[in-house]
Amino acid sequence: MINLKKVKNPMPEQDPIVRAGNFEEVAEGYTAQMAINEAMRCLKCRKKPCTKGCPVMVRIPEFVAKVAEGDFEAAYQIISDTSALPRICGRVCPQENQCEGFCVQGLHGEPVAIGRLERFVSDWHAAREEEMEKAALEAEDDEFAEFAEEEVIESNGRKVAVVGAGPAGLTCAGDLAAKGYEVTVFEALHKPGGVLAYGIPEFRLPKDIVAAEVRKLEKRGVTFVNNAVIGRAETVDELFEDGFEAVFVGTGAGLPSFMNIPGENLLGVCSANEYLTRINLMKGYLPEYDTPVQKAKNIAVVGGGNVAMDAARCAKRMGAENVYIVYRRSMDEIPARAEEIHHAIEEGIDFQLLKNPVAVLGDENGYVTGLECVEMELGEPDASGRRRPVVKEGSNFVLDVDCVIMAIGTKLNKLILETTENLEANDRGGIGTDAGAATNREGVFAGGDAVTGAATVILAMGAGKTAAASIDEYLGE
Ligand code: FAD
Ligand code: SF4
Repeated sequence: MINLKKVKNPMPEQDPIVRAGNFEEVAEGYTAQMAINEAMRCLKCRKKPCTKGCPVMVRIPEFVAKVAEGDFEAAYQIISDTSALPRICGRVCPQENQCEGFCVQGLHGEPVAIGRLERFVSDWHAAREEEMEKAALEAEDDEFAEFAEEEVIESNGRKVAVVGAGPAGLTCAGDLAAKGYEVTVFEALHKPGGVLAYGIPEFRLPKDIVAAEVRKLEKRGVTFVNNAVIGRAETVDELFEDGFEAVFVGTGAGLPSFMNIPGENLLGVCSANEYLTRINLMKGYLPEYDTPVQKAKNIAVVGGGNVAMDAARCAKRMGAENVYIVYRRSMDEIPARAEEIHHAIEEGIDFQLLKNPVAVLGDENGYVTGLECVEMELGEPDASGRRRPVVKEGSNFVLDVDCVIMAIGTKLNKLILETTENLEANDRGGIGTDAGAATNREGVFAGGDAVTGAATVILAMGAGKTAAASIDEYLGE
């Protein structure tokens, strides 16, 4: 049966006033009945435009049909055929530009809520697995024993190193381990997950979901070595000397950019990556942790992407009274996910659109006292196709703030390129690869943000899958 309702079944959410004071997840997830109702909005289009809009080609109409039938396990199996991290992608993918952006229901109303359905199905599956595991541990007989055990995969005796435990590295490691490779993941930070652990806040992506993905890989035999900065502790070339036959580099693009305006070195200016890492990875939001975090009354966050929204919404939750997003274009060009912008507005973030900082102002002790900005207007489209912001002469004004967080993008860290012999870069400054993720160095593969520059979780995951298939082909010869 098809339900021609023009709007999505609403997502239950924490009240904006309540949630702006806590770090718990904002969206609470569909119930089974809500998911079935939403799935019944699917028109079962023959050409499947939604699937073509998904970077990893999840067979969307098929899984949605299974949800409509109430067969959630079958729906999960279809999704997980192509997506390694559905609980994460269901939460953070920019669906409006991908699958949902192509959904035919969206032509005359709202698209089918594909992301919410993906989240529902994968959460349902995870809850069922957890129940089984618990039953296995408690059971006297061994009816459920298999759920508590390690996955038994016969080793093929070949060792692969993965550098970086973000979505690209985790996916590559998972796919290779499933094929019998002995995989070791080297991660620079003290916890695996990459941006999923240190960047995206708990209220958007609970960290137990990331930890569960890591645990799944451990059960599959993957070894994690944390606090290991490859290129410093050991180089990629030395990994080969240690017996690894192939190396995948998924080191991301976490080096923050600054504007190079006067006053950026004042006390109270920081990068969004540093701010978010202190709050998320180092648990700066929990009173029992003594992680130092900028705590200010009035905060300006410069930028309009997901990183800016996350920093602004964290700042509100850390107790700031006024939080401004300072973005140089208009709401039509803002790159963050639509849902995050909507949530940020609901939580009281003040959007200063068509404004651009020209200087950070400070007092005689070197502390921030304000952000001098100019107003902008939109001119002709630039190379990116977006209208170029042009300064309105004489429009300078000062935002009264005591902290400025820069979220204007990140660059690639060159460490691996600089320390791996003869490894070539691409024209964006990332690690150069062919379509199969192979670099110019034999046995070295790369993918995710380390190749493309800052992109998305699903693209990093897709690159990890491509690389795993190429490594298997390379070592299988
Ligand atoms: P990363 O996730 O960056 O992981 C790389 C890992 O490599 C890190 O753990 C790093 O510590 C490690 N590493 C780096 N150098 C070394 C080294 N030399 N040795 C060992 N380890 C090393 N995308 C979305 O799709 N939706 C969103 O809502 C979204 N929100 C975001 C919010 C924030 C705050 C940020 C920063 C990004 C966001 N993104 C979002 C982008 C997305 O998270 C990234 O595109 C994705 O994580 C890239 O995956 P990756 O595996 O290539 O790299
Ligand atoms: Fe269903 Fe939308 Fe995909 Fe059509 S485009 S099959 S309506 S989810």
